[in-house]
Amino acid sequence: MHELSIVSSVVDSVTESAAAYPGARVLEVRLRVGALASVVVDSLEFCWGIATEGTEIEGAKLVVKTVPVVVWCEPCGKASELDGVQSFRCPLCGELTMDVRQGRELEIESIEIDEAGENETAGRRDKAEVPG
Ligand SMILES: [Zn+2]
Repeated sequence: MHELSIVSSVVDSVTESAAAYPGARVLEVRLRVGALASVVVDSLEFCWGIATEGTEIEGAKLVVKTVPVVVWCEPCGKASELDGVQSFRCPLCGELTMDVRQGRELEIESIEIDEAGENETAGRRDKAEVPG
């Protein structure tokens, strides 16, 4: 499944970033997904549950933000946002354009981390020192 491999790489990347905050818990991951990224948002959310299961970020919430398509129109000399992905015409003059400036994104926008979790970890570390 296309979405599962995308989500898996997001999980890897988030896990890596979260490693900089030992003991902190990842609460929420925000993704920016362009309207042209050809991914199904519902599938991303579904795969998120599978991909995070059993990992350090299990239970983190996935928030997908859809980014609209923006095209550059040469005659108008400006970029405009499109309503959909059906037609690549400048909304101002109707000129056909294939100069897509935005809408192919597939990136992590932000990761929300519960740093208060550090205190809990300190407690857990103490316990971990007890053999057995
Ligand atoms: Zn135009």
